[in-house]
Amino acid sequence: MERDKALVVFSGGQDSTTCLFWALEHFKEVHTVTFTYGQKHSLETEIARKIADKAGTDFHLIDITGIATVGRNSLTDSSIEMDQEKPDGTFPNTFVPGRNLFFLSIAAVYAREIGVYDLVTGVSQTDFSGYPDCRDSFIRSLNVTLNLAMDAQFVIHTPLMWTDKAGTWELADRLGVFDLVRNETLTCYNGIPGAGCGHCPACRLRNEGLKKYLEGRNDKREY
Ligand code: ZN
Repeated sequence: MERDKALVVFSGGQDSTTCLFWALEHFKEVHTVTFTYGQKHSLETEIARKIADKAGTDFHLIDITGIATVGRNSLTDSSIEMDQEKPDGTFPNTFVPGRNLFFLSIAAVYAREIGVYDLVTGVSQTDFSGYPDCRDSFIRSLNVTLNLAMDAQFVIHTPLMWTDKAGTWELADRLGVFDLVRNETLTCYNGIPGAGCGHCPACRLRNEGLKKYLEGRNDKREY
């Protein structure tokens, strides 16, 4: 079986947008799947659709809002004040329990339906928050589970697993989509595209990575 098709789990944020263009470089046919899970900011799905259009990939939206009614978190529940810092010994309340488990499991079912067995996700173990379902061990374990569950040969690709935010900017630049990622993606927890609100944890991480990458790039150009 020729492996020339991929499905990208896509949110329209910095990481998954970079992964989308990574996938376009590695696969002939690229599909995207975006999930609504009760996010406060519905703009996220519009942005994802727009970027998928620009990339020339199809866009498939799946509603799994039900997960937000099971596990509480500050991304879907307005009554919870968002943690600005990572609390000691645990993860912040921006963690949506089971999110990547559900996303990837449902993505795999959809992928199988359209004859795709390569899945791409932008999770990163280097991510500051230490979300357990962003770790390499979880992804490898789920990969085995999906194969057993559907008697298939899925491969979950994680191009950003060992990359920090500066490295993700570098990859976007190498893929020729630095400006697109910088101006058109939405990472901000307060729902502001591009550079975002500047003060939420997602913005701080994104902007610090950008600063670090640009400083490194300018250094390289000078010498
Ligand atoms: Zn923000």
